[in-house]
Amino acid sequence: MTAPTVSVPTVSRPTVSLIEGDGIGPEITAATLRAVEAAGAQIAWERVDAGAGAVARHGDPLPPATLASIQRTRLALKAPLATPSGGGYRSVNVALRQHFDLYANVRPARTMAGVPSRFTGVDLVIVRENTEDLYAGIEHYIDPRRTAAESIAIITRFGSERVIVYAFEYARRHGRRKVTLVHKANILKMSNGLFLDTGREVAKRYPDIEFDDMIVDATAMRMVIAPERFDVIVTMNLFGDILSDLAAGLVGGLGVAPAANIGDAPGAPGPSAERACAMFEAVHGTAPDIAGKGIANPTGLMLSAAMLLDHVEQGVAAARLRAGVAAALADPATRTGDLGGRANTAQYTDAVIRAMG
Ligand code: NAD
Repeated sequence: MTAPTVSVPTVSRPTVSLIEGDGIGPEITAATLRAVEAAGAQIAWERVDAGAGAVARHGDPLPPATLASIQRTRLALKAPLATPSGGGYRSVNVALRQHFDLYANVRPARTMAGVPSRFTGVDLVIVRENTEDLYAGIEHYIDPRRTAAESIAIITRFGSERVIVYAFEYARRHGRRKVTLVHKANILKMSNGLFLDTGREVAKRYPDIEFDDMIVDATAMRMVIAPERFDVIVTMNLFGDILSDLAAGLVGGLGVAPAANIGDAPGAPGPSAERACAMFEAVHGTAPDIAGKGIANPTGLMLSAAMLLDHVEQGVAAARLRAGVAAALADPATRTGDLGGRANTAQYTDAVIRAMG
């Protein structure tokens, strides 16, 4: 008799471009890699350079080799990069977003024990359109004396549809029950009306997900009165910019917030298809005031890595990583200084890993 074949589930091992970043970047990246590995994730990291460090080493904040790596892997985990204010080179974050047409900015906001906030039970996700609207960069002075200026908001059916579809797909994949489309179509009847109409059409394809829409000013008020009412919010660039920071404020600020910037999946229709990729990053900056001291809080990057693991369908490792972070945050002895604790980056990371069991 032949022995029965045991089928072992195979986990694919995607390659992910890794940008260590500037300031506290290398410290929180090292901590995150330890935690990701301890969570059992299967990732092959490909280290690439960007930001101020890349200027020092290659004379270019975004070297061609970095773009080529992300082009190949279509996946990136990125620590914060320094952007000189005023002169100097333009934001690498913006350049990456434009180059890879990362049209959906995804910002989850969830209350966590140990992170001080005014609310409990908040668990919402903002999906912000990232390429159009007033941020299309079309503005000019109307008269030579520069006494008046105008900025033009571009909203297209194509741009609206792809981000709204992404929001519904996200809701479905993450077991979320509702998508709320936020707009100002009562005043901006054409541009915002187009976004709203597109949303109503897309919603018909997702009968399993509840859909409603809300005017942006009412949304801002409802978010600070009853944030637990919201689940997935999808909105245009400007409103999304403002509401995603508002949401971060509801759950304790930008310090521990993760984010994803998503382009189309390879092979998907549309102009972004051939350069599609997904980039995951902490929302906070390079924290130059504490760089090199070993005391930075790596939570934002760890939770961004958990989003990456979800994206590459390593949900078990993502859940382990989130559980470890939640446990380490909940214990005052293992929190970092920014959250009122005394642990340094390494001690906090040890606690995250210990809590995963
Ligand atoms: P910042 O987020 O770097 O710092 C604001 C404050 O929060 C500082 O006191 C800092 O010490 C603290 N802080 C931030 N992250 C922390 C962490 N993980 N642990 C502990 N404390 C933390 O914002 P900033 O000072 O306005 O910007 C500094 C630099 O970062 C600038 O060059 C800016 O352009 C850049 N930046 C980059 C990104 C990005 O790459 N995504 C985002 C924002 C800012």
